[in-house]
Amino acid sequence: MVPLKSKRLLIITLCLCVAITASIILFPYSFFHNSIPAMSPVFSSSMSFHPASRHRRYPSRARRASGESFWGAASTRHSNSSVLGSGNPAVLPVSSGTSSSRSSGENKVVYLTFDDGPSDLTPPLLDVLDTYHVKATFFVVGAYDPHVSEHLQEIAERGHAIGVHSYTHNYHQIYASEAAFFEDFDRIHELIFEATGIDTKICRFPGGSVNGYNKKTGKAIVRDLKEKGYVYFDWNASSGDAGSQNTPDGIYQSALSGVHSHRTSVVLFHNTAAKKATLHQMPRFLATLEKEGYIFKVLGPTVNNRPFIF
Ligand SMILES: [Zn+2]
Repeated sequence: MVPLKSKRLLIITLCLCVAITASIILFPYSFFHNSIPAMSPVFSSSMSFHPASRHRRYPSRARRASGESFWGAASTRHSNSSVLGSGNPAVLPVSSGTSSSRSSGENKVVYLTFDDGPSDLTPPLLDVLDTYHVKATFFVVGAYDPHVSEHLQEIAERGHAIGVHSYTHNYHQIYASEAAFFEDFDRIHELIFEATGIDTKICRFPGGSVNGYNKKTGKAIVRDLKEKGYVYFDWNASSGDAGSQNTPDGIYQSALSGVHSHRTSVVLFHNTAAKKATLHQMPRFLATLEKEGYIFKVLGPTVNNRPFIF
């Protein structure tokens, strides 16, 4: 026989045990559910990226020099965020207007871009691109190719994208003032339109959106461009073909290592009449990427531009 007093003690002890166990189990649950509503506004506002996107556009010199890509940073941090583009055209998700390359099961995407053409090396480049069934984006210049209209036409007819680069490509001149910039910009835009019928809405700044010449005028020009409905692109992979001493192998290695560093890359090449080495390595470059499973796309106003801006 257990004495009555001991029985009561046993019952009280059991009740206490049940209560303690229940509180241990339920506490994290209630904490979690109470915490989410409190955290949500903070989370949402950080995902809208107003301050961050401004910062991302003007990174430190060290960050640019290191080759660190904002695309890489953005895609890593927000790889599964559907909040990213909501209601803010400046941070449209990559999936709008192009197939997403965010998740590991999807294709790796390369946007090939060719600056400073067209030139006599444009038709042979188009032939190589055709051989590999690849479409590219040409950011073009107006003042130096005697056959500019004809070449622009050919680029468009063969299914590639065309964007404004500059009429003169004269840094001092175009970045001297907003008026000077748009005088040059409108001239090449008009030339593209006359040659191809395309009212292009994409562009690339000579020297990139952050350069040594537009420190005073850059922000105002970017603001005006956006107001006019243009989207500008920098790049996150470079072939390094801007210099005059490059070999086809050096260009190939630089471009390839740039592409390998990102799941989605915008690769910078040049297409002036002097860029023979760029042209010569192109079949090897395309063959390698094709073998590695990359797909090629062209830039357009609906493709996310944010991560491709320095
Ligand atoms: Zn250029």
